[in-house]
Amino acid sequence: MQVESNKVVIIDYTLRNDAGDVLDQSSPEAPLSYLHGHQNIIPGLENALNGKTQGDKVDASIPPAEAYGEYDDNLIQAVPRNMFQGIDEIEPGMQFQAQTGQGVQIVTVKEANEESVTIDANHALAGETLHFNVTVKEVRDASQEELDHGHVHGPGGHEH
Ligand code: ZN
Repeated sequence: MQVESNKVVIIDYTLRNDAGDVLDQSSPEAPLSYLHGHQNIIPGLENALNGKTQGDKVDASIPPAEAYGEYDDNLIQAVPRNMFQGIDEIEPGMQFQAQTGQGVQIVTVKEANEESVTIDANHALAGETLHFNVTVKEVRDASQEELDHGHVHGPGGHEH
């Protein structure tokens, strides 16, 4: 069975940055399963896996535009300190969920003082070319429920 839209794909993967540092990897007991064609994973990796079958190994280098986007300086902004009411200590590197025009986003604190907090709404991997080594473990049909929900159920998927 080939990887195509509406198939459940189970993969082992290692993700490295340009420097060769491992950013993320699946563990042998917990491979990643996702529903192909439903934006569960980044577009560049979906494209690289299209048409593959069980046992295939795929090495893919994915530019930012097909991963988490280019780094955007406009997504850095200073907001008043009083928007963080109830939080005593705000330090660089802390992350918060923020309601923005594009929905809920994770923002990272870059700087904080008594008047203002500078936050960065870029994805942590924005601007990075991502290098994946992937092994396709299994390709199977999705259940109707999985198709309705747009994601995989069971081990490695959503638990609900
Ligand atoms: Zn579901």
